[in-house]
Amino acid sequence: MKNFLTSIFILANLISFGQNVTVEELWKMYSSHDLISVIEKAKPLLENDPNNINLNLIIGRSYTDLTEFKNAIPYLELTVKNDSNNTWLKAWALGYLGTCYFMLQDYNNSMKATKECYQLNVTKNATQYAYKNILLFGFDDFYKNWKIVESDHFRFHFQNMGDLDIKNYISSREVTIQNINKFFNSKLPKKIDFFVWDSREDAKKLLGANLGFADPGSCIVHSHYQQTKGHEMTHVISNYSTKIINKTGLINEGTSVCFDQTNQNKEQIVKDWLKANDKKVVIGDIWGNWKNYPEEFSYPLSGLFVKELIDNFGREKFIEFFGNQSYENAKIIFGDKLDKVIKDFENKTNT
Ligand SMILES: [Zn+2]
Repeated sequence: MKNFLTSIFILANLISFGQNVTVEELWKMYSSHDLISVIEKAKPLLENDPNNINLNLIIGRSYTDLTEFKNAIPYLELTVKNDSNNTWLKAWALGYLGTCYFMLQDYNNSMKATKECYQLNVTKNATQYAYKNILLFGFDDFYKNWKIVESDHFRFHFQNMGDLDIKNYISSREVTIQNINKFFNSKLPKKIDFFVWDSREDAKKLLGANLGFADPGSCIVHSHYQQTKGHEMTHVISNYSTKIINKTGLINEGTSVCFDQTNQNKEQIVKDWLKANDKKVVIGDIWGNWKNYPEEFSYPLSGLFVKELIDNFGREKFIEFFGNQSYENAKIIFGDKLDKVIKDFENKTNT
């Protein structure tokens, strides 16, 4: 009897989707990031079948990936409510709800959904997605005794810092973000969740990564308390200065180094490294093979190069270029003068 009913159910599904697209086709479109079409095609199907968990999840995930978090929530909630068998659909709906609520700064609901996804443990990828966010968003028990302090632009999490130091830390970062954003003029979707670690070893153990790093899409920074004021927050701020379709190490790191607000002599560091290693700067090679160079050299070099681009071409052109950071796009935006600027930069640095 059950098989018979299932067949009827499948048949009914095929009929109702027959003239349009199937759920499988919608997931395929989702996988190829054709998100706006997914929503357009799924919505009419939902009218005849409003509690369909597949359709609701597809629409909810598409809105989330389009960073339309508020629009995503009703579809994801409906999936959770109607998936009484606790399948992978509910797991992903919960995981994505955790992200949406986090981006809307509803931290309680974000933690609740994310942990529920993790505890459901029905499909490996969703469980991993939730676990990564538990660590990144500060929901793990490890953060239980951290001090959370909000300011105008940040929600700070301090592992171990005295009240006076916290006060100074916050006021200096507030000044820094406003200075940096005078250039980028970005509108961030939320306050930056800024984790200030006392111990690099603890971070490495818990997160499996070296400090510091930023997750611009979630407006998150994990930083050691002694790291530069500007580097990691520039990763977040710059991410919202234009639509980003292609990042490269030279330009993306170079931008954060350029705005790190330190006054170290980067030119000297680069020249000393070149001399000690008997090497010459070839920008084209560093642009294409960023990972082949050690950070002690590539980071300061990239900061100098980005400054050179901004000095030569100005803020507006630079931000226009920043969305697609390849050499090819630089040629299109900056024109023929680019190659001369690169040549002059190489000559200046190599002597
Ligand atoms: Zn960086």
